[in-house]
Amino acid sequence: MIDRPRLLIRGGTVVTADTRFSTDLPTTDILIDGETIQAIGIDLPLPEGQNVEVVDAGGLLILPGLIDAHTHIQLDTGIYSTADTWLEGSQAAAFGGITTVVDFATQLPGKSFPQALEGRMAEAAPSIIDYAFHMMVTDLPPGQEEELGVLPELGIQSIKLYTTYRPNYYLDDAAVLRIFETAARYGLLSLVHCENDALVTAQTESLVKSGRLEWRYHGASRPHLAEIEAASRVLMLAQAADAPVVIAHASTERTVALTTHARTTRQTAFVETTPQYLLLDNTVYEGNEPWRYILQPPLRHPAEKEALWTRVADGQVDMIVTDHCDYKKAQKLAVNNFTKTPGGLPGTETLLSLMATYGVAEGWIDWPDLVRMMASNPARIYNLWPRKGTIAPGSDADLVLFDPAGEDIVTAESLHMVAGYSPFEGMRVKGRVVSTLRRGAFIVRDGVLAAEAGTGAYVARKPRFWD
Ligand SMILES: [Zn+2]
Repeated sequence: MIDRPRLLIRGGTVVTADTRFSTDLPTTDILIDGETIQAIGIDLPLPEGQNVEVVDAGGLLILPGLIDAHTHIQLDTGIYSTADTWLEGSQAAAFGGITTVVDFATQLPGKSFPQALEGRMAEAAPSIIDYAFHMMVTDLPPGQEEELGVLPELGIQSIKLYTTYRPNYYLDDAAVLRIFETAARYGLLSLVHCENDALVTAQTESLVKSGRLEWRYHGASRPHLAEIEAASRVLMLAQAADAPVVIAHASTERTVALTTHARTTRQTAFVETTPQYLLLDNTVYEGNEPWRYILQPPLRHPAEKEALWTRVADGQVDMIVTDHCDYKKAQKLAVNNFTKTPGGLPGTETLLSLMATYGVAEGWIDWPDLVRMMASNPARIYNLWPRKGTIAPGSDADLVLFDPAGEDIVTAESLHMVAGYSPFEGMRVKGRVVSTLRRGAFIVRDGVLAAEAGTGAYVARKPRFWD
């Protein structure tokens, strides 16, 4: 039998969602046996008679490996393709402390769900981090809803639906309702992109008609009411169908408030937001480089940032995700026309340092809150718990060793994402990822890539029936 690697991570400050964090917490040791955590404790003895490598984590925080539950690595929308491969995308994520992503497999029209997953699995095979998939459902005519029943066999517990983007992705209310009802029956959770298609279309057409096509009009093309209306409607359709739902990338405070309200009526409803809506606002569209900020939904009024942070601080936001899309700068700059520029921003690598700086250091949240929104909740909601999302005996040894000291500035050159730009360029960040472990193996060690291609694995998920 091959000797399993054993590691003792000595003297770090372990943070989970349940930690009562203070700066003078006693340091904790973590013993790793193969791919999982064997023991956690203060001054753990070195197991005798075995070859154990001791890793000094003095002065470092040890967080569960982050789970980014909304990424689009190596994305092909049918119109645009991001520039990254799964190898590159997973490496960039690893440098950001992300050890698992829940990305997407897309059922394009005419394709079955197993075909969609098979194609996506082949693309993801070179990944160095673990991955699960939401199934994007685009083509499910009346009478074919039962096809969703195959998803649990494929290890898929969540589906993605869109209320906009004609003709390929858009689903009308009747379709959303049908799919919600069937998904709930199979223990599937529905993640929904909420923008009222009529409002977005009308506003975009009016800008196009008057020749206002430049990037600077992007924000105006997709009004905040489009999101609020669609989120409200989707929550009610989910309530009517008795279906669990996740509202994707909330860009406005009211979207979060609507979800919170839905929960008070005992609805199973969750909401995610992203660093871009917490840290950036629509004044950038009037600036010199509006091309950097083409995403859907777009950036909002400056007042939304503080309002969103207040909801985050109050525990009303379940997950912070990136909605990562690694389009290259050249793709973004190709034509100064918001209707012809691919939407989506690169974000995996900067997620942790930005949230550590502008969330924790600024005092909106504490470290355990960050862990809750970026590891534990995604694991619980998407049924990866307790294998992922925490630091506990028996869990996968997915860990981030984070040095909270030191300051840096976000620059495109220092990042491994292939975009060649970052929407957060020039922003100050505190702290850095020193090392990342995925199932007991260093994938980044002391700031250097340490993993072979293809060492990440697909994580199959079981359906879940919510109380
Ligand atoms: Zn997305």
